[in-house]
Amino acid sequence: MNNNKLRDHVGRILHESAIRSFSFSLQGANVNGPELAEIGRQVLKGSIAVRVDASLESSGEFDYLSNTLFFKSDNPDRGTILHESIHALLHHHKCTKTTDITHEVAAYLAEVIYYLREGLIRRERFQKSFTLGSTQSIYQEAIRLIDKHQILRKSVYLKWGDYQGLRNAIKAHPTYIKPQWQ
Ligand SMILES: [Zn+2]
Repeated sequence: MNNNKLRDHVGRILHESAIRSFSFSLQGANVNGPELAEIGRQVLKGSIAVRVDASLESSGEFDYLSNTLFFKSDNPDRGTILHESIHALLHHHKCTKTTDITHEVAAYLAEVIYYLREGLIRRERFQKSFTLGSTQSIYQEAIRLIDKHQILRKSVYLKWGDYQGLRNAIKAHPTYIKPQWQ
């Protein structure tokens, strides 16, 4: 897939019905389907660029300086596309009154809401305990939060204290061990 095909792919995914019904807010960060579709429109018209960069350490990255969504592969999975698009959305909304860790919480929540809605992950797999610092433990905390607050069914607002478990799981992951996040 070349960069243009990937751009069209990303733009289309952000208009899907499973994403259109998204609606949740964290302290200082709001995520909803129509605004994600707007990010999709900006991708399609090229005002947000999409590029493949095989040298990336993670599967994706949104670079706010160049306003570019980077993906390690030319066929990124939908969860990765959604995750990075949430970073783009929060940047475009100038959600600067919130923290980097809240942006990450929003991105993981969106990713897991999508996986659950589409039947791409199964709750039963997440009933055992996972080592803190693994991606599975992040997903597990996200599932707990989604079920506790019924995020699949209604629009919710989560206070800082509500998502402490998910914050801790993210902060323990090697990608996110950053002094300013402690
Ligand atoms: Zn992220």
